[in-house]
Amino acid sequence: MAVLVAGGAGYIGSHMVDRLIEKGYDVVVADNLSTGHRAAVHPQARFYEGDTRDAQFLDDLFAKEDIEAVIHMDAFSLVPESMKKPLKYFDNNVIGMIVLLEAMQRAGVKYVVFSSTAATYGNPERIPIHEADRKEPINSYGESKLMMEHIMKWVEQADGIHSVALRYFNAAGAKADGSIGEDHHPETHLIPIVLKVAAGQQDRLKIFGDDYDTTDGTNVRDYIHILDLADAHILAMEYLKQGHPSDVFNLGSSTGFSNREILEAARKVTGKEIPAEVAPRRGGDPDTLVADSSKAREVLGWNPQYDNIEDIIKTAWTWKQKHPNGYADRS
Ligand code: UDP
Repeated sequence: MAVLVAGGAGYIGSHMVDRLIEKGYDVVVADNLSTGHRAAVHPQARFYEGDTRDAQFLDDLFAKEDIEAVIHMDAFSLVPESMKKPLKYFDNNVIGMIVLLEAMQRAGVKYVVFSSTAATYGNPERIPIHEADRKEPINSYGESKLMMEHIMKWVEQADGIHSVALRYFNAAGAKADGSIGEDHHPETHLIPIVLKVAAGQQDRLKIFGDDYDTTDGTNVRDYIHILDLADAHILAMEYLKQGHPSDVFNLGSSTGFSNREILEAARKVTGKEIPAEVAPRRGGDPDTLVADSSKAREVLGWNPQYDNIEDIIKTAWTWKQKHPNGYADRS
C-alpha cells in the first residue's frame, strides 16, 4: 500500500516525500506544478500531474494506486497574497480539500494528515500558543486552514475519515546535502530572501515593520526545520493507522526569533554583510507567533532534531549555494 502526498513537488512536500522514501514507504505524488517543481519530485516516487480540485484526476489516481493514507500539503500559503486574493485561497484550499475528501470517500481511504498553520490563531491570546487557544485568523490564509480543520470534524463523524491537522509555525531550512530546498516564484519568505541578499541576487532586505509590540519592534516567529516537520507527518499517519482519534498539533521549536535576529543569524552563517532597511508593515502579520509543541512531543513522540536557528539557516544556505537559481539549476 502507498502513501499519497498531495503537493509533493512543493517545498514542504518534496522534503516529505524524501523522508517517506528514506523510511521505506511506497510513495505517490500528485501535484499540478502551479508552484511546485517537477525536478523536486523524488525519482522513486510515482508522479501524477494534476489538480486536487479535479475529481476525475483523483478518481483515476485512486483507481490505479492502492492508497492507504493521504498527506495533504497541496495548498496556497502566502499571507500577503491571501490578503489580496482571498477567493483564490478559499477556492484552492477549502474546495480542494472538499474534492479530495470526496474522492477519498469514494475510494475508501480512511486517513489524512494535512497542513494547517499558526495563522489559524490570529493575534494569539498568550505566548507560547497552545492548541486549544482562541483562533481568530487575521489573514484569509489562516481562515482557509481553520475552515479545513472544521470540515474534518463533520467528515469524520459522517464518513469515518480520520485526520490529523498539523499547525506549522515557520518551516525553514533544507535537506542538509542541499539537494532539495525552497524555491518560490516570487519568493516572499524571510530566510530565502535574506539568503538572496547574501548571494548578491537582491540589493537589500526590507524588514516589514519595526513598531510591533516585541523586544526589538520586529515580528517574532518560531522556525522549525523542514525535515523535523516531515517526521511529524509520518508519526501522525502511523498514529491514525494505530486507531487513535483525530487530533490537532502545533509544530514549532518553541523558541521565537525576531526578524532582526534572523538577519543577524544569517550574517553569522554566511559571513556576508546583508544590507537591510525598515519598510512599512505587511498586512496580516501578528506581533509574535511561538508554539507550545509539547502535545506533539508527548502524544506523537515527536523529537525534532534541529534546535539551533543557525544550523537551520546553514542548511538553507547550502541549498542556496548549490542551486543559486533553485530548480532551474537542476533541469
Ligand atoms: N518579512 C520581512 N521581509 C521580507 C519577508 C518577510 O520582514 O522580505 C517578515 C514578515 O513580515 C514576517 C516574517 O518575516 O514578520 C516571516 O514572514 P514569512 O513570509 O517568512 O512567513 P509567514 O510568517 O508569513 O508564514
